[in-house]
Amino acid sequence: MIKIYGAESYRWYVKVFSCPDTMQKALGVNIPPWVKALSFRNCVCFLEQSYWLEPEPNGYDDLLVHECAHCLANARYGKGIPRWLDEGLAMYFAGQIGSTEAIGMPPQEKDIACIGYEDPMLYRYSSLLMDALTSVRSIGGILALADDAENFSAHGPLGDKTLRESITAFKEK
Ligand SMILES: [Zn+2]
Repeated sequence: MIKIYGAESYRWYVKVFSCPDTMQKALGVNIPPWVKALSFRNCVCFLEQSYWLEPEPNGYDDLLVHECAHCLANARYGKGIPRWLDEGLAMYFAGQIGSTEAIGMPPQEKDIACIGYEDPMLYRYSSLLMDALTSVRSIGGILALADDAENFSAHGPLGDKTLRESITAFKEK
């Protein structure tokens, strides 16, 4: 069973799936067991809370903001921004950027701009980079930079540096 809030004809709507199987079948994509919610085009999809592997301190609230931020980013940027920035913005708006002091540097062979969901460190690096970004730019400035996605792939967010140099500079501050 699926609960739908809003209607499919609305611009944005929220669906709550009663179990992982229903969610997977309805969306036609493989969903890793740690997923609690995801954005799918203009829809925020939740898995019913009793199936979450780990509890969420604010229940659905932060996740709703996080996934709505993805919906807005999808509408504005499409696939034009790197994954770490998409996650970083969603985490920022949902208040999920935690302390990044203990996060180590990505290994040399890792291209930060290309990190995807298969990498278990994606969310930590997203948090680290977002922390670095917001220490030198306003959120409006970051969104303006995101309009020109090349700023994030070719250069670092802190100036004419690679992402790795940007993180190093941030950590040394
Ligand atoms: Zn996300």
